[in-house]
Amino acid sequence: MNTEYTSAKTRNDVIILGGGAAGMMAALFSARDGADTLLLEQNEKLGKKLYITGKGRCNLTNTADLDQFLREVPRNGRFMLSSLSHMDHETVTKLFGDLGMPTKVERGGRVFPVSDKASDVTRALKRGMDEAGVKVLTGVRIVRIERESCEEKSGFILEAEDGTRYACRALIIATGGASYPSTGSTGDGYRFAEAFGHRVFPPQPSLVGMNMDSDWHERLQGLTLKNVRITARQGKKVLYNEMGELLFTHFGISGPLIIELSAHLLDHYDEARVVLNIKPGMTSEEVDKRLLREFSENPRRQLNNVLGSMLPARLAGLFPSMCGLAPDMLCSECTREDRKKLRLMMTDMVLPITSPRSLDEAIITRGGVDVKGVAPGTMMSKQVPGLFFAGEVLDVDAHTGGFNLQIAWSTGSLAGQCASIYLRHNPEVK
Ligand SMILES: Cc1cc2nc3c(=O)[nH]c(=O)nc-3n(C[C@H](O)[C@H](O)[C@H](O)COP(=O)(O)OP(=O)(O)OC[C@H]3O[C@@H](n4cnc5c(N)ncnc54)[C@H](O)[C@@H]3O)c2cc1C
Repeated sequence: MNTEYTSAKTRNDVIILGGGAAGMMAALFSARDGADTLLLEQNEKLGKKLYITGKGRCNLTNTADLDQFLREVPRNGRFMLSSLSHMDHETVTKLFGDLGMPTKVERGGRVFPVSDKASDVTRALKRGMDEAGVKVLTGVRIVRIERESCEEKSGFILEAEDGTRYACRALIIATGGASYPSTGSTGDGYRFAEAFGHRVFPPQPSLVGMNMDSDWHERLQGLTLKNVRITARQGKKVLYNEMGELLFTHFGISGPLIIELSAHLLDHYDEARVVLNIKPGMTSEEVDKRLLREFSENPRRQLNNVLGSMLPARLAGLFPSMCGLAPDMLCSECTREDRKKLRLMMTDMVLPITSPRSLDEAIITRGGVDVKGVAPGTMMSKQVPGLFFAGEVLDVDAHTGGFNLQIAWSTGSLAGQCASIYLRHNPEVK
């Protein structure tokens, strides 16, 4: 066990379980509000997941207004209204600025540290927690939590893997989701919540790459297509229609466009039809005309070579066979019907997606503690007084752009402050 600040065998006002984004913010607000606060984290250091966010730059929030925020949080966005009014993106950037970490706004309202270093986010929070007097214990994995309720005391007892017990009057569970378990978010919070009678929706991977069933994607592994359009439909309903960047991988597809698509496909993998348009800047007629011109100018050249003027070389080499045509076919042999196959493959390529990649690779977890059991104005459990939840452990998740961390900051700060207020208003909780 690494005692970063102090040891804590005594009873604390508030214990926060989980030293990620939500947990650190909760600890800061609980201590600033006057509560004797202990933060417990199983990793040897705080903010392990934060460290890898935004490719190491940490996209910590987004300047989107409330309407857009709600559009970007497909699952239980409205549950966030109170916590957002407690801490919105402006409060977040001001807080980090005051903690010595200035921020900057990039494309799409994405906010990053000026230093481009995710580690500075954790550093700033540690500084704030230090100043506020938060006690931090790392290397402590909690395996069991019990409600303590007798005449003199009511609160919680947390038992660590090594048998050490920690007592508190109010408890905040900020253990994260179940994605990227290598960072410590192994889903323990779900077990604890269920043991207290909370409903937990099964975790599903979101913001993740997708497996495909094709005999060609492996050969395109590593190829990035920029400025392409993906449209996903379920029957006539458009689930997703965006332009961006796509990456072919050994398992299928990934890249920003696909990661975002995964949040829209979650319950629709079986019925959705996902179509890739490699030439979104041209109409079908324009693509056909261009093919006709290329073929009539190069009658004696092979299709795969000529297609290289319209497609990346690796894709051009495979393209005829993806359309069921011989790669060495001469342009002069290409019929109107063949040209149509090529055109459709460029503008309406149906991607044979089978499933999302696993939680191990997912940026975010869909599912978690049912928000119906949690008061949105305090983050306190509706059935267990003194028990609070914050961050990804809750069944709230968002698209990419800094919205998921905003959820962690908003729910964390509200839970921290309300845990402290709860104790002040309930002095009988000893
Ligand atoms: C690769 C990647 C990139 C991302 N990039 C961005 C981004 O740029 N912008 C954005 O908004 N979101 C991003 N996210 C999502 C964002 O990181 C999470 O939504 C956010 O970190 C959740 O914060 P949290 O505090 O709820 O959970 P976590 O950060 O997962 O923290 C939970 C903590 O609890 C600890 N813990 C769990 N169980 C126990 C236990 N039993 N005992 C003790 N400790 C325990 C864990 O070790 C962990 O440190 C990214 C995610 C990933 C995986």
